[in-house]
Amino acid sequence: MEIKWAKRIADLPPYLFAEIDRKKNEMINKGADIIDLGVGDPDIPTPTHIIEALKKASEDPSNHRYPSYIGMLSYRKAASEWYKKRFNVELDPISEIVALIGSKEGIAHAPLAFLDPGDIALVPNPGYPVYPVATTFAGGIPYKMPLYKENGFLPDLDAIPEDVLDKAVLMFLNYPNNPTTALADKGFFKEVIDLAKRKNILICHDAAYTEIAFNGVKPLSFLEVEGAMDVGIEFQSLSKTFSMTGWRIGFAAGNKKAIAGIGKVKTNIDSGAFQAVQVAAIEALKNYELGLEERKNVYKERIDLFCKSLDEAGIKYHKPEATFYVWFEVPQGMTSSDFCARMLEDAGIVVTPGNGFGEFGEGYARVSVTFDTEKIINAANRIRDFKI
Ligand SMILES: *Cc1c(COP(=O)(O)O)cnc(C)c1O
Repeated sequence: MEIKWAKRIADLPPYLFAEIDRKKNEMINKGADIIDLGVGDPDIPTPTHIIEALKKASEDPSNHRYPSYIGMLSYRKAASEWYKKRFNVELDPISEIVALIGSKEGIAHAPLAFLDPGDIALVPNPGYPVYPVATTFAGGIPYKMPLYKENGFLPDLDAIPEDVLDKAVLMFLNYPNNPTTALADKGFFKEVIDLAKRKNILICHDAAYTEIAFNGVKPLSFLEVEGAMDVGIEFQSLSKTFSMTGWRIGFAAGNKKAIAGIGKVKTNIDSGAFQAVQVAAIEALKNYELGLEERKNVYKERIDLFCKSLDEAGIKYHKPEATFYVWFEVPQGMTSSDFCARMLEDAGIVVTPGNGFGEFGEGYARVSVTFDTEKIINAANRIRDFKI
């Protein structure tokens, strides 16, 4: 028989990294020394005190059974206490927080909770590809909000047509931003809240990188801005903060009705996160500063090394104050794809083409510094010597 794919997966945009992946593997098979700076996945291991908490919790049989759909109350309490400590935001652990199997899970499920077929979700472009794909999966229509350098990589809310705003029920935002590394200020979030109220748009703020910032910068939580709890929720992840990408744990916090909506979808789709992982996550949140500065210093050192080589190569970039990425401009006259192909062929470095995050990422490329410092130095040297 013939297996037919549903339109929602058959129609997915072509995988932009496929050609680079193919070329990379071909070169590796020929024995080339390739440095892959593509994926943003911390190389620094999870701190020992968190691993110890998991070990202990995994031996307790009460943690072997189905967890609660929305998360252990003790985990939601720890998340609430962390928000109070870190952002001075009060959250009711019972009704304003839901545990997630990584924040990607919540982001991908949010459109199912809030979008009816034909509804619009406003999505940043360039941006995390999950926002538009999850929107389409739910029968919604993504509307791209371009992030331009001239605008500090913030969307221009005034540029969104009125008829689009009328049909929009959801807006995704993400600051500190992946891939551009930009930060949002309170003024921008206030404008977002005003618009949300005026047009009845639920704001879904992806806050995966609030803890990865440098030079004393303390990124904002969307929820600390007045009025945010009326219009939005925030997705928090333990992945980047605590080097826990493989553990699959995060949470969503904010507006009660919206949190209940996410909970309702989850109750019908998954059965929650492994309790032992939640216990370890409590340990992470309770002692969240343990080793954080050291981990950030490692990223900062690598970012500085990498940026210095971009300076020497005459490549323009936006100096990151947060996240573990560097977002830089490809040389004039080249497309992102051309540049990334040349980087791979001539310098043996895999970088992510900016248009992989959407058409408005064209003209840019992204590297991640989540690879050992030796590798970053090696890559930086190759870029310095790289002749366009
Ligand atoms: C890494 C990342 C996530 C996902 O994090 P998980 O909690 O591991 O699912 C979400 N959003 C952005 C922008 C990310 O870069």
